Amino acid sequence: MGVSVSMLASGSRGNSAIVASARTRILVDAGISCRETFKRMKTVGEDPHSLSAILITHEHSDHIYGLATLAKKLHVPVFMTGATHQAWARAVCDEQGEKPQLEKFERFESGHRFQVGDIEVKPFTIPHDAADPVGFTFRAEGIKLGFVTDLGYVPVSVRDHLRGCDALVMESNHDLEMLRVGPYPWAVKQRVMSRVGHLSNVALADFFINDYDNGATFVVLAHLSEQNNHPEIARREAEKALATRGGLFNNRVVLALQSEALEPIRL
Ligand SMILES: [Zn+2]
Ligand SMILES: [Zn+2]
Repeated sequence: MGVSVSMLASGSRGNSAIVASARTRILVDAGISCRETFKRMKTVGEDPHSLSAILITHEHSDHIYGLATLAKKLHVPVFMTGATHQAWARAVCDEQGEKPQLEKFERFESGHRFQVGDIEVKPFTIPHDAADPVGFTFRAEGIKLGFVTDLGYVPVSVRDHLRGCDALVMESNHDLEMLRVGPYPWAVKQRVMSRVGHLSNVALADFFINDYDNGATFVVLAHLSEQNNHPEIARREAEKALATRGGLFNNRVVLALQSEALEPIRL
């Protein structure tokens, strides 16, 4: 079977993906409803009841919307940092008047690796306006996958974590010009563009040109803005940047979608 990644949903209306080895399946973020998660898992041939764990990157609603229901239905451990857990519980409490309970909460710390089945998970800090946001690298069966969305820029520490990846899932959130002339209020535009906002196409291209080691078979562009980006612009920017490294032969660029699941990418 090998290692695979299935992008179930990606974008500001909900994020969810499955990272799987032959023995272990991890849901990364739970940003769409439980029902929709089940539906999309079915379309990619995954059984929800075969999930081993849920991992949460940060508490923004597009990453946790379906979490409480999914955790309750599946009885699987939910991994997040202590600060993310607190922020999530506070937000749910403010909205529903009572503190949510997780049957199996597993706390991890940024920078400290842990094991879920036969997948080794390494969480690392990313610059984003949440309590304790993280990206992940996953290792199983000799394969390394880098997974990082929701970051204002790519700091040196993140570049280091992304070395030697066989596949990358990375944010390509907005086209700067589309964002500038687009419909968002100025304050929101400022937030998106800030050092703790979202990664632009050009910032990702800059990473590919200057810091990427050109080793990934697949590069998945994720968390594209529907208002401030266009899939073809994001793809063109990424491919142009990868071509400067002679990397287009090595890297297949795939775009994750908001409205439907992608076919599993097998590594
Ligand atoms: Zn976020
Ligand atoms: Zn997000």
